[in-house]
Amino acid sequence: MITVKIIVSNPFQENTLVLSDATGECIIIDAGMYNAQENRALTQYIAEAKLRPVMAVNTHGHVDHMLGVNFVKQTYGIPFALDGRDNFLIESAPTHGAIYGFKVDAVPTVDRDLQGVPTLQFGETTLQIIETPGHTPGHICLYQPEQKLLVTGDTLFRESIGRTDLPGGDYSWIMRSILDKLMPLGDEVHFYPGHGQDSTIGHEALYNPFVTEVMGGEVNYDC
Ligand SMILES: [Zn+2]
Repeated sequence: MITVKIIVSNPFQENTLVLSDATGECIIIDAGMYNAQENRALTQYIAEAKLRPVMAVNTHGHVDHMLGVNFVKQTYGIPFALDGRDNFLIESAPTHGAIYGFKVDAVPTVDRDLQGVPTLQFGETTLQIIETPGHTPGHICLYQPEQKLLVTGDTLFRESIGRTDLPGGDYSWIMRSILDKLMPLGDEVHFYPGHGQDSTIGHEALYNPFVTEVMGGEVNYDC
């Protein structure tokens, strides 16, 4: 059974996620902490819950999702995993960050390339890696089928989708990713996005305007 902790981080209100299971091992997804207070919120939670971080993982390489990656790498001595197709975003984080007023001193080294890797493991948990290009070329979602738990990053939000006007973004790709790979996971699937409230696939099938616009009559309203 996975436990999810959300630490809302940085001026972009990005969701830094800690996923843990009964073994006490955890992974830190999209570490976006930007100040000492946000760093402390993370380390305090991990200490109080007696967790052992084993990996930093990113759904994608955008600067608001990686501001705290160096901190967790240094604090816990853990590797950083990312789909290599988003390496260019990590490398350009100091430049991109400056546009939004973020100061990025050091770019974290990517230790594990997740491109083409089917699963990710921690503790007794196996997460499926679902490639969902569109918001960025190397965007991935993470899925645990038994618990029907999904991490969607900036691909799918509650009643919205990630923007596609940034470098490497593509609207037709993000829609294909959502419609072909996320919606078929089923109405009961509970997801945690990179910004804002958690939701379910069933809720999005009914209320996400980007989804309903294209799904139209295909939606099954029996649920
Ligand atoms: Zn993003």
